[in-house]
Amino acid sequence: MDLAALGTDVERVIVSEEDLQAKLRELAARIDADYQGRDLLLVGVLKGAVMAMADLARYMQRHIEMDWMAVSSYGSGTKSSGVVRILKDLDRDITGREVLIVEDIVDSGLTLSWLKSNLESRGAKQVEILTVLRKPEAAKVHVEVKYVGFDIPSDFVVGYGLDFNEKYRNLPFIAVLAKHMYS
Ligand code: 5GP
Repeated sequence: MDLAALGTDVERVIVSEEDLQAKLRELAARIDADYQGRDLLLVGVLKGAVMAMADLARYMQRHIEMDWMAVSSYGSGTKSSGVVRILKDLDRDITGREVLIVEDIVDSGLTLSWLKSNLESRGAKQVEILTVLRKPEAAKVHVEVKYVGFDIPSDFVVGYGLDFNEKYRNLPFIAVLAKHMYS
């Protein structure tokens, strides 16, 4: 879906399709180098990380495995509830595995710090995090993110996997949702 088809739903584009793809290509190359000669399991966080996982994995020049988790931290609004629930768990045991969590966005960091310790408690050898977007709030909690795509302002954004009431995931760019859509 392109910008013209959106009408006045979004305020402005903050990360273009070209910038997203260039960044994912760059991160894939860094991951290839960092994990050289080691097994790697990518864990995508549904549903927001679907686009990033698909693009990142295709830029990588090595074998990887993929698994998926679905957790809920937001309801249908725009504010974090702080409550994390597992809606879909991993299919496989991760004991001894090197895991890279692929996430769409870190806001309060609550979801990721919970997820990281959850995976560590299952006996993973190492759990690192990649996020496409990071908001300023994330600096306040201690969750170490190894790979960050873009630091963005704290506006509510949609696109490239990120939704508002399940819509806008299929935008190839990231845009700020217009205030009139939710206020
Ligand atoms: P956190 O626990 O870091 O506050 O929130 C992480 C989750 O909140 C993300 O995985 C995402 O689902 C949702 N989230 C946070 N900020 C935004 C945003 O600007 N837009 C959308 N669509 N979701 C967001």
